[in-house]
Amino acid sequence: MQIKQLINGEFVEGQGEKLSVVDPATGNEITQIAQASVEQIEAAVESSEQAFQSYSRTTPLERATYLLALADAVEAATDELAELESLDCGKPFASARDDEMPLTIDVFRFMAGAARTMSGSAAGEYVEGFTSMIRRDPVGPVAAIAPWNYPLMMASWKLAAPLAAGCSVVLKPSEMTPLSTLRLAEIINDILPAGVVNIIHGQGPTVGDQLINSPQMEAITVTGSPATGMAAMRAASNQIRHVHLELGGKAPVIVFDDADIDAVVETIRGGSYFNAGQDCAQPCRIMVADKAYDKLVADTAAAVSSIKIGAQKDDGVEMGPVISQVQRDRVAGFVERTAATNAEVVVGGKVPEGSGYFYQPTVIANVDNDAEIACNEVFGPVVSISRFSDVEDALSWANASSYGLASSVWTKDVGRAMSVCSRLRYGFTWVNTHGVGTSEMPWAAMKGSGNGCDMSVYALDAYTAVRHVMVAHS
Ligand code: NAD
Repeated sequence: MQIKQLINGEFVEGQGEKLSVVDPATGNEITQIAQASVEQIEAAVESSEQAFQSYSRTTPLERATYLLALADAVEAATDELAELESLDCGKPFASARDDEMPLTIDVFRFMAGAARTMSGSAAGEYVEGFTSMIRRDPVGPVAAIAPWNYPLMMASWKLAAPLAAGCSVVLKPSEMTPLSTLRLAEIINDILPAGVVNIIHGQGPTVGDQLINSPQMEAITVTGSPATGMAAMRAASNQIRHVHLELGGKAPVIVFDDADIDAVVETIRGGSYFNAGQDCAQPCRIMVADKAYDKLVADTAAAVSSIKIGAQKDDGVEMGPVISQVQRDRVAGFVERTAATNAEVVVGGKVPEGSGYFYQPTVIANVDNDAEIACNEVFGPVVSISRFSDVEDALSWANASSYGLASSVWTKDVGRAMSVCSRLRYGFTWVNTHGVGTSEMPWAAMKGSGNGCDMSVYALDAYTAVRHVMVAHS
């Protein structure tokens, strides 16, 4: 197992304190990995600054060639990477391999193409005797921070876009799930010149904090919790840095009475409990029109009660554990506090017997639209169901959320769907589906969920600066 960090093209043991990496399906330690020391973080940052000088001057074709080679090499290592990912996160192996790896690989491939599309607007003579042109140039070395829920996919999002734009990157995966990213470091080192990507390991408030506050880092990109987003904004404000944030979410699912309830239920069963509900876009806050409410609750309860939970390679396993004891306690706390109100836990709501950090797939009905569990990110296998009578109420409850990432609207009436979509203040809205992602389209954040986006050509905006060059004719 590769557990060294990648600093300036060399694999080195961390010189800091060791951290335990745990299999959430058993609670057993997999390995211990030493964190980067202060000096090692400085070395990674300096290496990134040096590498930027030459990498930023590569042609789009050269960058695209690197990214395509990365995609091919990651694809060739699919089984091995999925194995590490499922071990480290506790997720079903088949899901890590078949659901997550294709998009992880495709983001590198998409960004290879995107690197060659970057252009400024046409040149022109806006002042007589002078020609102006617009350039889009890489912003500089990027400090990238990734979370534990999809470690490798998030690493690919944090790397592919800045690399396409011509930026070097120092990436810190979550200290809880570094294994797949450290293996990715080997793949990267076989392809990219030394220093273009450095990968360091360690905790957020120490290693992450030093990285995002390093003066050489010209941009900060974070996928993580709102608290980490705020830390990044504070760091950016100290030195006036570009900052791109993809933070938490609480996706409202607005279901009208003409919706295909079977499709909604199938989507909840498949999507809300995918990755044990640890997903920023997870359909978790179901808001249902009165007439459809009873059927939706009954059918969802029946569907969710058959979800098979288990370890990574158990036969027919559909859902694994949550990431840690702390996370399970947090999820259980939300459910216990909600159960003490008028709400009704119709499925689950308990910690199953046995080892590992499992939590039962849970459905809570009759939840008030302003209840704690309806408004806050649980990040676990829990869905709340509330009712509405008037679309205006549903919209105002949904928009009152501090989050603004994913949302969905379910109705057969196209006009109504368009009207609701136009008024939802969320970075993305699905109609009659939920959770389908594609590299061409932005994973966009608004409000407390962040700013900018990952994926799509718009992701390049966070890593490029628009510049004006003016040439005098004489
Ligand atoms: P987290 O914020 O606790 O940790 C994320 C990363 O930030 C880790 O690498 C951590 O070490 C680092 N970090 C923590 N404090 C830091 C600090 N002060 N300075 C620098 N780095 C610091 O988040 P998490 O628990 O790993 O991930 C779950 C969160 O991520 C959820 O809120 C989820 O919604 C969000 N998420 C969002 C998206 C998206 O695309 N919007 C995708 C996945 C996860």
